[in-house]
Amino acid sequence: MSETVAPDAIERARELAADADRVIVKAGTNSLTDEDSNLDDEKLDKLVDDLADLLARDTEVILVSSGAIGAGKGRVDYTGETVEESQALSTVGQSHLMRRYTESFERYDRKVAQLLLTQHDLENTDRFTNFRNTIETLLEWGVVPIINENDAVATKEIRIGDNDMLSSSVAIGVDVDLLVTLTDVGGVYTGNPKRDPDAERIEAVGDNYDEVQAIIDESSSSTFGGIQTKVQGAREVSEHGIPAIIARSTEPDVLEQIATGKEVGTLFVPINGVTDE
Ligand code: GLU
Repeated sequence: MSETVAPDAIERARELAADADRVIVKAGTNSLTDEDSNLDDEKLDKLVDDLADLLARDTEVILVSSGAIGAGKGRVDYTGETVEESQALSTVGQSHLMRRYTESFERYDRKVAQLLLTQHDLENTDRFTNFRNTIETLLEWGVVPIINENDAVATKEIRIGDNDMLSSSVAIGVDVDLLVTLTDVGGVYTGNPKRDPDAERIEAVGDNYDEVQAIIDESSSSTFGGIQTKVQGAREVSEHGIPAIIARSTEPDVLEQIATGKEVGTLFVPINGVTDE
């Protein structure tokens, strides 16, 4: 990459991320299920352990969790062929997910709440205000809000479609200080890390965004793990003055590392607002 982000801008963004009082964490289906599409207890507990590290620092935590359709497939032992079947699988998987989150957070004496959103809820001011008020109340109570798209009622035309965009909309709408997108790759790379051994992790994205976008357009395909939407979501958030990080969910103590200012994954530095001062 010819263009890189200035070291002091990276340093400042890393400090902002470490000092965040309110963090939204997005976990993808791969970070929660195994190869047979069963909810993976170890993965889920690891995610909750990481979130508990933030809670122990008095950081407010909002989780956006995928995995409803994925976990539903394992639970029903059927992959689903139609949209209706995927929607039905999501309802089986969602309740199973929430049961496991409830149990896992109980290890830390924490309660959880489920919020299922549709595109309408993001677009309609009254509905979004109600959503935001509910989140504020839950956070005041120390309850961890867990958000997913309401897949059962979201048909093709009105789907948000993926939780990367859902997370960035919520991150901006409820004024978080940091978005962390956890996935099965260690960040954004100069190629597809699953296929190309020479692909290198990009430490930070800011002024070099166009170049990063060009690399992704070139190297990505459907097997690239949906990196485009993760980058797009992180970019949108950073345009609102909020730092964002894309990191590997299996990285040990990944959120604790971020909270202590370590270099993890790919950091999107805020490109307006706070760091412009
Ligand atoms: N809402 C979908 C689910 O929970 C996931 C969407 C996504 O993976 O981004 O299965």
